[in-house]
Amino acid sequence: MKNLLVIHTGGTISMKKDSATETAGIGSRNPLLETTDTLTDSSHLNVIEPFHKPSPHMTVTDMVYLKKIIEKECSEKGYDGVVITHGTDTMEETAFFLDLTVRADVPVVLTGAMRASNEIGADGFSNLLSAIRTAEEEQAKNKGVLVVFHDDIHTAVDVTKTHTTSAAAFQSPLAGPVGTITPNQVLFRYNPLLQNKLQVDEINKQVALLKAYAGMDSSILLALKDMAYDGVVIEALGQGNLPPQTTQGIETLIRSGIPVVVVSRCQGGFVYPAYHYQGGGSHLRDLGVIFCNGLNGQKARIKLMAALMNTKDRNELIRIMEN
Ligand code: ASP
Repeated sequence: MKNLLVIHTGGTISMKKDSATETAGIGSRNPLLETTDTLTDSSHLNVIEPFHKPSPHMTVTDMVYLKKIIEKECSEKGYDGVVITHGTDTMEETAFFLDLTVRADVPVVLTGAMRASNEIGADGFSNLLSAIRTAEEEQAKNKGVLVVFHDDIHTAVDVTKTHTTSAAAFQSPLAGPVGTITPNQVLFRYNPLLQNKLQVDEINKQVALLKAYAGMDSSILLALKDMAYDGVVIEALGQGNLPPQTTQGIETLIRSGIPVVVVSRCQGGFVYPAYHYQGGGSHLRDLGVIFCNGLNGQKARIKLMAALMNTKDRNELIRIMEN
């Protein structure tokens, strides 16, 4: 019999839909609290609820708090695995942050739902049961933090929410799911490369996330300097290019010691300094822009915040962000 820690944090999986208003929200009591225990008899589930909020209300401070709970509970009580229920909107950010920072050698698995608990076809209970079954698996160890959704198992690094309403809202565009849940098995397909952990006990850095677009200029970049941001991540065009009018702002930020990191606004592929025209990747690299591969903008932002809590040294930042 396995001993699992189940951490409810909120999200649609913990909501009920009001049929009169056709809207869902957080009620006074999480409906999962009544049912979680009844989902399985193959594990003992210890259920806690540090948050009961929609995931757009999650902050990096909440993520640090979750990380501390997981580490403390696992070291004091020796759990075999951790399951976290979470709203889907920011689930990938929390999963990625935990993957980057949590030191625990048991499976940590996040899940949620696209339909509220009282809706027809509510997916929360089956997703939660699948997450529990995954956390019980020996093979789920050493694969990093996992996200289980709609019978697929994803790594925190690769997973992203790709649909606003579908029950199959989560995908791993670059690598595909790392595993699959069948009615009687939890099957893994490959062993993912693991992230290097960062030591983070608090986050007090402000990192902006911008999306590049045709005709973008420097105005927002210059405003970020005036607002004393600590770093900027830009979802750049294609392989990592920006419109020429942005380079003045980028130069100003980098000269002021504010790191600028680019990822791509494309869902697939990698960034690479391939073009030397003004604003092309090669020009940006000459200006001191850091290229971050394999992460989308929201995860690169989390990583840059965590990296900035560890170092101010530019070369060290490059080493962390480029690996
Ligand atoms: N807006 C909800 C949330 O992220 C969506 C969900 O959980 O599916 O909390």
